[in-house]
Amino acid sequence: MVETIRAYGRSDIGLLGAGGISEEILVAMSQTQRHLFVPERSWSLAYSDTPVPIGHGQTISQPFVVALMTQLAKVRSDHTVLEIGTGSGYQAAILSRLVRKVCTIEIVRPLGETATKLLKEFGYDNVSVRIGDGYRGWQECGPFDAIIVTAALGHVPPPLIEQLKVGGRLVMPVGSAGAPQQLTIVKKTATGQTTSRNIGLVRFVPFTRSPN
Ligand code: SAH
Repeated sequence: MVETIRAYGRSDIGLLGAGGISEEILVAMSQTQRHLFVPERSWSLAYSDTPVPIGHGQTISQPFVVALMTQLAKVRSDHTVLEIGTGSGYQAAILSRLVRKVCTIEIVRPLGETATKLLKEFGYDNVSVRIGDGYRGWQECGPFDAIIVTAALGHVPPPLIEQLKVGGRLVMPVGSAGAPQQLTIVKKTATGQTTSRNIGLVRFVPFTRSPN
């Protein structure tokens, strides 16, 4: 799986530069057992570069997309990172190996509870999981050096930009859920100022909203 990701990363030199996905991210992925985050009936797919259903209509993202989003967020070992859409907990586990602190929010309670249990059991001690609507972010856990959103919405939630540090990056699929979305990088250049860049088309599950 890691070799496939390495090869994909290098095949798109315009996107990531000649180095492709960083060695650090590839090592984090090779050290993380993806099957632990996948239901047992799908274990045969756990190390293929493909999304896998995790129940409640949700999926664990394709490993290359996890690697790509992590790389585009430019995470470093002293960073505090917010993830919206914990799902299986896999992306959070990868981030956990690369940064100081991970805060992650999941709206579907049973998924959030399972991920919390798994991450605790396997010693991902720098990850905090909250159950709720990630639209409002998680002020007390931030401010964030980077934010990764793993569900698709037509716009970037303003509270997330507010909780991003100046100089920080947010990576998110922007677009409606029925069609492919633009993987977008938003850079916060100053308080109240951002620039954004579209990377290419991706397909994510919808970003849902809670009524309150
Ligand atoms: N990062 C996950 C991918 C999960 S798919 C992984 O590595 O497995 C996206 C997840 O976003 C789903 O679990 C979905 O329930 C969740 N989600 C959708 N809208 C959300 C919202 N408003 N707040 C928090 N989580 C949300």
